[in-house]
Amino acid sequence: PDRILSGMQPTGGLHLGNYLGALKNWVPMQDTGAECFFCAVDMHAMTVEYDPAVLPDRVRGVAAAYVAAGVDPERSAIFAQSAVPEHAELNWILQCVARMGWMERMTQFKDKAGKDSERASVGLFTYPVLMAADILVYKATHVPVGDDQKQHLELSRDIAARFNRDFGGGEIVFPLPEPVILPTGARVMSLKDGTKKMSKSDPSDNARINLHDDADTIAKKIKKAKTDPEPLPETAQGLETRPEAKNLVGLYAALTGTSVEAVLAEFGGEGFGAFKPKLAEAAVSYIAPISEEYARLIGDKAEIDAILKRGAERAREAAVPVVAEIRDRVGYWRP
Ligand code: ATP
Ligand code: MG
Repeated sequence: PDRILSGMQPTGGLHLGNYLGALKNWVPMQDTGAECFFCAVDMHAMTVEYDPAVLPDRVRGVAAAYVAAGVDPERSAIFAQSAVPEHAELNWILQCVARMGWMERMTQFKDKAGKDSERASVGLFTYPVLMAADILVYKATHVPVGDDQKQHLELSRDIAARFNRDFGGGEIVFPLPEPVILPTGARVMSLKDGTKKMSKSDPSDNARINLHDDADTIAKKIKKAKTDPEPLPETAQGLETRPEAKNLVGLYAALTGTSVEAVLAEFGGEGFGAFKPKLAEAAVSYIAPISEEYARLIGDKAEIDAILKRGAERAREAAVPVVAEIRDRVGYWRP
């Protein structure tokens, strides 16, 4: 049977990119009969500067957003990564499987570490190995993520294949996990720079639309969003050299469930002054049901903690036997 694993970092509140690129895709997977594991990856959030005093509430916030978006805690395990220590245990083993040359090709490290990579944490560099452990500790077969995680998924597959070769004795220990990336919304860009993806960790809150933003905030952010002075083009090809216009049109298409062509058929030739209020309206009505449910849940700490506790128990049930098998395969001593 299929096993689905995905997660988000509690580095801040979730935004429209997280939703359209990944979270939205998780919900229908629950109806496929697959076992679903969705975690708040707090150990990943430690790879950059963070405040330990707020981390637990951020984990709760991520869990509440999952539920608000339609992840059902009855059918899916919702949990904190750190509550399942098997992730950390497999992480070490996979650190010894991954090769330096593979790691040095990872572009997210270069983006996040910036010019001063000497000061980046070692954890930020080895982050993709922990991500491979997150996936392989459940022997997950499918991983629904945004487009930016494609390279990390490929690394997870390389690690799995190498482990199988070196420790499998001819057997397939880890199935190679398949990325599941949506055709639209997989790469929502920043509102301030159409060449950068929308991110929780962007220092400017105006660069993103959060799932918890109210209607006024959303309208203001869209009004301020960077554009160029040209009217919208008549065809999708006309967007190719205009990253900000392309992003806003793509966003409108994703929010209203139409194609980019259909959006341009309606708005081609019009300026952003006419288009932006429509986009704001679409974003507000799209997000409203999620943000209302989120606001309700976030006030019920006991309920969220109960969901996280039950989720961690279920996740451990799946992970413990996998780690026991892997311990034997790598030659750990046991009496
Ligand atoms: P951070 O800046 O801390 O890395 P993030 O916004 O990139 O935060 P993650 O927690 O790293 O969010 O990623 C969670 C999921 O959301 C992943 O599946 C990732 O591919 C997806 N995702 C993140 N940003 C976008 C985006 N702009 N468009 C589409 N999907 C995205
Ligand atoms: Mg990220």
